[in-house]
Amino acid sequence: MQLSERAAIPCNLCGETEVTVLSRRSRSGRPLRTVACISCGLAWSDPRPHNARRFYEQEYRVEYKRTFTPKPKHVLRAGRVALARLQKIAAYVRPGLRALDVGSGGGEFAYLLRSRGCTVTGVEPNRGYAEFARREFGLEIVRGFIDEVTLPPASFDLITIWHVLEHTEDPGAVLAHLRAALKPEGVLVVEVPNVEATCQAPRSTFHEAHLYSFNGACLQALAQKAGLRTIDLSLSSDGGNILAIFCPAAASAQRSRWALPGNHARVTGVVQAHARRPYWLTSHPYRRAAGRLRRTVAERLALLGAPTARALLDRLYRQAESDPMRLRLLWPSLAGLYALAIVVEEVFVDNLLPAHGFSEQQALLLFFVLQAASLAAVLWQAERTAAPGPQRAAAFAAALPAFAVPAYC
Ligand SMILES: [Zn+2]
Repeated sequence: MQLSERAAIPCNLCGETEVTVLSRRSRSGRPLRTVACISCGLAWSDPRPHNARRFYEQEYRVEYKRTFTPKPKHVLRAGRVALARLQKIAAYVRPGLRALDVGSGGGEFAYLLRSRGCTVTGVEPNRGYAEFARREFGLEIVRGFIDEVTLPPASFDLITIWHVLEHTEDPGAVLAHLRAALKPEGVLVVEVPNVEATCQAPRSTFHEAHLYSFNGACLQALAQKAGLRTIDLSLSSDGGNILAIFCPAAASAQRSRWALPGNHARVTGVVQAHARRPYWLTSHPYRRAAGRLRRTVAERLALLGAPTARALLDRLYRQAESDPMRLRLLWPSLAGLYALAIVVEEVFVDNLLPAHGFSEQQALLLFFVLQAASLAAVLWQAERTAAPGPQRAAAFAAALPAFAVPAYC
């Protein structure tokens, strides 16, 4: 049983100050006291590790990514994340919506929404990123902190706030602020890291940039308190993130106490158990490493020719819709590859080369070089035309036997 302590900042959900300490170090190893509210289980950094205003306006991106404006690599990465996010909320997106993206960063998600027919406004406190999004994508970006930006009341069909709420000083107030800007039939999409996540190394659970850490129950209660109703709440496949879809509640919840019985025990139990378990014995570090490697290779390929940020996203977002014209060329080109492989084997390797004094090994080597080149051409076309998913995987899988089949002819 852990001893309770007093928090300097009262709980954002229930207002209590009696807490236990979840962690005393941040992921960078610096001192950072993270506490959990005994009455409701909400976790926060207490005291605050930095001056939020200066940190997010200027220092945050530099600390995180060592740059003031995104490099092509970051744009590409954010573009892929944007596509994955759009997929998750596809049921709520349609042309003609008026959308607000809070914490729009380099503008990648806002630009994607616009390319799908929405009218989008972004909100971003960081100067370099806000200017980049305006300049590169011609987006309407309001520069500022979401709690200080004036939003027209009841005017948005869709508001998205991806991985921002945990950075704000008063998440309850931010949710109420967004609730007021939603149309009565509007939808609010919130994604935050899950405090119960076990996919990261235990020492990486808390860091300076996250002022609050939520589990599903806390996030829902906070939204309910702000006058929102939960439509859907789900975890990412690795359990690392919570995705919540809210809409305005008909009547705001009138509760005097926001205690969540059992939630503190649950949160502290998960965090402590994760800290005790040897992380390297789980599959997560290896899956993460493999994912990073795959991502790096894909990025290198996509960045070839150093296109502009806009061209990069245009290509990526177009691919996601799959260009049917080019896709139709994919399968004939695959058939062509097989035909070519057989001809090369029969004519070139078996007859022509030996007749000109090449040894068998030299002929085979040349054969494999030619095969590899044509294989690369098909894979390149698949990568360019088919959206990530079953179609592209099928093209890749179908191209691979081209190596083996003619070799046994
Ligand atoms: Zn509380």
